[in-house]
Amino acid sequence: MIHKIGVTEFLKLVDEERKAVLNKTYLIDLNAVKFSIPVNSVKKDEPVISNRLEYNNWVSTNTFEQKQSGFYGVYIKVLLGNISSATARKLAKIINAYASSEDVRLTINQGILLKFVTKDALPYLFNELSKLKLATPGFDSVADITACPGTDTCNLAISNSTNITVELERVIYAEFPDLIHNHDIKIKISGCMNSCGQHGLAHIGFHGSSFKVGTNVVPALQVLLGGGTLGNGEGRISEKVIKVASKRGPDVLRTLFKDLETNAREGEYFNSYYDRQGKDYFYQLLKPLGDNSTLKDADYTDWGSDEKFATAIGVGECAGVIIDLVSTLFFEAEEKLAWSAEAFDNGQFGDSIYYTYASFISGAKALLLDKQVHVNTHHTLIADFDKHFVETELVTLQTSFKELVLQINKNEPSKEFAEAYFSHAQVFLNQVKLFRESQVLELK
Ligand code: SF4
Repeated sequence: MIHKIGVTEFLKLVDEERKAVLNKTYLIDLNAVKFSIPVNSVKKDEPVISNRLEYNNWVSTNTFEQKQSGFYGVYIKVLLGNISSATARKLAKIINAYASSEDVRLTINQGILLKFVTKDALPYLFNELSKLKLATPGFDSVADITACPGTDTCNLAISNSTNITVELERVIYAEFPDLIHNHDIKIKISGCMNSCGQHGLAHIGFHGSSFKVGTNVVPALQVLLGGGTLGNGEGRISEKVIKVASKRGPDVLRTLFKDLETNAREGEYFNSYYDRQGKDYFYQLLKPLGDNSTLKDADYTDWGSDEKFATAIGVGECAGVIIDLVSTLFFEAEEKLAWSAEAFDNGQFGDSIYYTYASFISGAKALLLDKQVHVNTHHTLIADFDKHFVETELVTLQTSFKELVLQINKNEPSKEFAEAYFSHAQVFLNQVKLFRESQVLELK
């Protein structure tokens, strides 16, 4: 924001809000924040590493030297991001013994980061993690595939995204083991086009789909290529290249990797290679895998299932879920008013005022959405409500909506203001709800 509007304008905005802030100063007791580096219970005898190659790979792909001299960060690759509570409890004990138990992070690619592991402790930690199958090398590499839950739990999923992920990772480890050192290609899989697995931002992406052959339905994967994050807040969206039967997903990877190995220039990144060859080159390359005249019986079942595939779509659980947003926003507005009243009764006037403000915003947003006006910020929402409802006199207020709602930054967060602000919001919410009801009646 500072980059966009400049520091002077930013400080002006801060000043405008200052009056409404309940606690204008906050004393931080630095001594209250304790951070201790673990004392490792490393034994004196040499640890026995059963698989030296695996250990070396793990060290080179899953660990890094921290800025704090003598300490290492250790990544744990968690297949599909799934970890049982029994395993997690065992992992907690290992962390207590060999890493900082105060600084454990979940990573964006469904993994775990441990910190402050000493160099001596690395082999012990590797051995302990291996027992839990949590020492797989190749963190954040080509072999570290991100997937949404797909048909495992999501009713919107069309075809399986998790069992195919397990199979694709198996293929990479078995047939392209060097790729565990490659961090340039990201593979991401979603069970449908909604993209919770972010297939549209992957170098190689797949989303669940299906197609018909006669009266039969075949589980399928839409293959997308050439996407990715570019850094600096920028990215590129992958292109749909071809749809293939799901069971042919591993062959898609084999074909792409072999082609890359043979035809890419020394040091050429996957997306540069994709751009150089163009979408049609990859379509032609993968076209034999899209040939439905050569389907076998197994292609009519999905990964992880023995039953003949059939599509069944229900209500989703995630980004793809469809709800009546206008009603939901009214419900939220009422809920926030209830929270405001509760906070007021508890003497928390600052919180009460905040909830009242949130109720104004939800109520206004509901009407704007009903009018197909989409807003991204509170600033534009407030201005748009004035433009579409107050200036047109569809909703009658004593002042502009802006003046009504932004009383919040012109008043100290006192009991009197909390009470008055709350009653204004109650009146406003009743008005917008009545307006919406009249609109619905007109449509009937
Ligand atoms: S809606 Fe999201 S979680 Fe569900 S299958 Fe589609 S992409 Fe996956």
